[in-house]
Amino acid sequence: MRKGLLIVISGPSGTGKGTVCDVLRKNNPDIAYSVSATTRASRPGEKNGVNYYFHTREEFERMIENGELLEWAEVYGNYYGTPLKKIEEKLAQGIDILLEIDTQGAMNVKKKCPDGLFIFLVPPSLTELEKRLNGRGTETQESLDRRLGSAVAEIEMGKEYRYVVVNKSVETAANEIAEIIKAERHRTDLNIDMLNSLKQRKEIL
Ligand code: ADP
Ligand code: 5GP
Repeated sequence: MRKGLLIVISGPSGTGKGTVCDVLRKNNPDIAYSVSATTRASRPGEKNGVNYYFHTREEFERMIENGELLEWAEVYGNYYGTPLKKIEEKLAQGIDILLEIDTQGAMNVKKKCPDGLFIFLVPPSLTELEKRLNGRGTETQESLDRRLGSAVAEIEMGKEYRYVVVNKSVETAANEIAEIIKAERHRTDLNIDMLNSLKQRKEIL
C-alpha cells in the first residue's frame, strides 16, 4: 500500500485557496480534507465541523496543552490549528489529506513532516488580490487592512514551498494542483512497500 500524502496549501488571504480547494475536492473525492480549529467568528454560511471547528480561546489553549494539534498559529489576531488525530488516521490508511493553512503553520508542518507536499497559491496580481478580498465582503476594514498588509511578506514565504500555482482561473488552478498531486503520488519514498511486495511475488495492483 502507498503511504498517504500530506498536502499543504497556503497563500495570501483572498487568493482563492478556499474556492480552489472546494473545486479540487469536488473533482477528487479520494482526497481527505483537514477541518481546522479556530477562534475566529464564523462567517455567514460557515458550518461548525464543515468549514472550521469554532472554539473559544480557552478551549483552543486546552487543545494546545493536550497536544491535540499538529500545528497552530495566531493569524490576524485569532488562533488557527490542525487537529492531529484525523491526519494520523488518514495517512496510516494510505489516504491523502489536504491542509489549507497559513505560512507559519505550514513551516511548522514542514519541520515535522518534511516529506509533505507544499504548494503555494498566488493571485495574478496584488490589485486582483485586493479586489477579491474586498469582493468577498466578509472582513471589517481592520481585518481587510491586516490581510492586505501581510500579503507581500506572505508572498516572500512562497519561496519555502515546492510548487507555486497561480489562481487566475479557479478550474485551471484546481487542475494544476491535481496534476501535481498525481505526479507526487508516484514518489519512490511513498511506494517502498509496493516495491517490497513486488519482490515478494505479490500482486500490487
Ligand atoms: P482565501 O481562501 O484564499 O482567503 P477565497 O477562496 O475566500 O480566498 O476567495 C476570495 C474571493 O475571491 C472570493 O470572493 C472568491 O469567490 C474570489 N475568487 C477566488 N478565486 C477567484 C478567481 N480565480 N477569479 C476571481 N475571483 C476569485
Ligand atoms: P480565514 O480566516 O480567511 O478562514 O483564514 C485565515 C488564514 O488562516 C488563512 O491563511 C488560512 O489558510 C489560515 N488557516 C486556516 N486554518 C489554519 C490552520 O489550521 N492552521 C494555520 N496555521 N492556519 C490556518
